[in-house]
Amino acid sequence: HVKERGRSDFRFYQRQMNIGLLSRMKLDHAMRQALEHHRFRLHYQPQINLSTGEIFGVEALLRWNDKDLGEIGPAQFIPIAEETGVIVPIGNWVMQTAISQAAQWNRAGYSLRMGFNVSALQFQQANFVESIAATLEEHQLSPDKIELELTESVLIRDVEENLKKLESLAKLGVKLSIDDFGTGYSSLSYLKRFPIHKLKIDRSFIDELPTDESDVAIVTAIIHLAHAMKLQVIAEGVETEEQKNFLLNMHCDEFQGYLFSPAISASEFEEKFL
Ligand code: C2E
Ligand code: MG
Ligand code: MG
Ligand code: MG
Repeated sequence: HVKERGRSDFRFYQRQMNIGLLSRMKLDHAMRQALEHHRFRLHYQPQINLSTGEIFGVEALLRWNDKDLGEIGPAQFIPIAEETGVIVPIGNWVMQTAISQAAQWNRAGYSLRMGFNVSALQFQQANFVESIAATLEEHQLSPDKIELELTESVLIRDVEENLKKLESLAKLGVKLSIDDFGTGYSSLSYLKRFPIHKLKIDRSFIDELPTDESDVAIVTAIIHLAHAMKLQVIAEGVETEEQKNFLLNMHCDEFQGYLFSPAISASEFEEKFL
């Protein structure tokens, strides 16, 4: 079934526009228009506790269906949004939408944690912590119901300033995770200094489990490192039973991946899982 999955991925990407040839300015304009005209959506990918099988949370992932360009994946437009700075208003929209959705689900009696991605430039905004706190307050959502996914690149810039922000967020009760762990600069010293709660093992290390010996070694080491530092650990991009069983045997805490579900719309998530 791995092969089939590969083929459906291929079809998915075929449907996506190749935006590589468009100028940065054109794309920046298109993203601003999309924001104004509500062409962005969030999809939600379930996150599962490996030992209980329960869905304890979701990751919000940005989707963009442009009226001229068609469906464009975040891996294509996020890097450009970061370069032009439009990631700041986009990220703000993501934060507000994710918190509002999380509040709605939790009010309805579903205890779910909402993870969402935060870009370096967004995190660096002077009012970042205040805007998170204000949005939680506005929606009456408990701070421990959200989890900010930060990449290593966020953590290595302006270390002193960022440390203060992370400490304020942690003090508020917001959960913090390191996304794509192992692919960035991987300075392990920040694990000691920063109030991080969880490591997310990058999909590239999961892909060839359990046959690739290096991946086996890396994933095992990350799980042990996380637990030794009293952190939770989640594996991203789990597509097969074999991968899931390997992670279960290694005492990984949680997973997300196509094996369980891709990211889906809020209504689809409700229909299927709530
Ligand atoms: P990420 O945060 O590491 O998100 C996980 C990516 O892996 C998502 O891709 C998800 O759809 C994909 N994925 C999950 N399970 C599987 C699996 O089993 N197999 C495969 N092949 N893929 C899987 P997506 O949605 O295309 O997002 C790509 C990246 O774009 C994200 O990586 C994140 O870095 C960025 N991104 C997405 N939404 C946002 C956002 O709202 N804000 C920011 N700043 N970045 C975002
Ligand atoms: Mg993420
Ligand atoms: Mg990731
Ligand atoms: Mg990634």
